Amino acid sequence: MTDRFDGNFTQQEPIPDEAIAAALEVMQHGRLHRYNTAAGEAGETALLEQEFARFTGAKYCLAVASGGYALATALRAVGVKPGDPVLTNAFTLAPVPGAIASIGAKPVFVEVTEALTIDLEDLAAKADQARVLLLSHMRGHICDMDRVMEIADAAGLIVIEDCAHTMGAEWRGVPSGRHGRIGCYSTQTYKHLNSGEGGLMISDDAETIARAILLSGSYMLYERHLASPPAEIFEALRYETPNISGRMDNLRAALLRPQLARLPRQVCAWNARYARLEAELDGTDGVTLIARPEAALPVGSSFQFLLLDWPAVAMERFVAACSARGVDLKWFGAAQPIAFTSRYDHWRYAAPEPLPRTDRILAGLLDLRLPLTFSLDDCDTIARILREEVGAARPD
Ligand SMILES: *Cc1c(COP(=O)(O)O)cnc(C)c1O
Repeated sequence: MTDRFDGNFTQQEPIPDEAIAAALEVMQHGRLHRYNTAAGEAGETALLEQEFARFTGAKYCLAVASGGYALATALRAVGVKPGDPVLTNAFTLAPVPGAIASIGAKPVFVEVTEALTIDLEDLAAKADQARVLLLSHMRGHICDMDRVMEIADAAGLIVIEDCAHTMGAEWRGVPSGRHGRIGCYSTQTYKHLNSGEGGLMISDDAETIARAILLSGSYMLYERHLASPPAEIFEALRYETPNISGRMDNLRAALLRPQLARLPRQVCAWNARYARLEAELDGTDGVTLIARPEAALPVGSSFQFLLLDWPAVAMERFVAACSARGVDLKWFGAAQPIAFTSRYDHWRYAAPEPLPRTDRILAGLLDLRLPLTFSLDDCDTIARILREEVGAARPD
């Protein structure tokens, strides 16, 4: 049987009606800039920050222009300077090393495991090489957060969490993004909330978030924030912190607030699809599924699996066969960067050292998106096609 899947892997759900209505209201009154508020009005951006702080349990929150901007701002806010090394996972998305490079700092890559999370042994070995770890929960896989914080604390490493794929996820009941000094999120279309572009950052550290607020371009209007520390924290900082504009606007915030209210339901919907695909592929000869620790409650907005130690020609054959049947897979072993890149050795500006364990993982790693426009039946169809094509492409 050679049925085809005709779903679209990049088609997200429509923006909910109440979010469209809220955005229309902002357009009708015209006050799109976050500090352009009428007397007594809070503003959509300030309200979003307050709601996201509440959602994560953080004391403070700042909304910004993108996830990548949030990461760069977080690095600046904890004092990373040009030339400083910053540890980060070798398996992550291009904006992560890009944020490090954007401030003139130097990414130092740490190996990843078969669980697609940072290799804690390699991290421990490299912990004395930097002051900061930018920990990326790539594709929603969460490492042992207890252990990573132990390693970081012992080495005096400040942890910044890249939660682009873990908004709504938890580790032992604690929201992802709440373990490090700062948690950074993206609200770009392919993430868990969709405002086209956008980012959020959270922290419990008053001075760190005050620096981030000033950096983001608050001028001297920081008192209009609702999830920020008291004005006196800004007193000394405001003279020494440059304005590097990257604010969120009220139109995007209006789109995001109703989506945030729905996020817990969306998390369940994603996890149901992930679980379906996982169950359908379990036991397929040659396929290694990604182990996820008990303590993690991830958000299954994408799905990965490994065809470990397959030769490149077999991988290429498999990807092409799936594509011919409508199943778009991203293979991280491709020699040339294609679309959204995630291979550390393609980031030559960072002069990466070879990482043999990571190379083995990336050479066998396949990835597909699970937009919520897919039904559980769609997941069955995708799984059937993957099973059949793994069988057909398997090397002898
Ligand atoms: C999308 C993404 C980012 C950056 O988000 P943008 O809002 O696109 O700048 C950072 N890290 C990871 C892992 C991502 O997937």
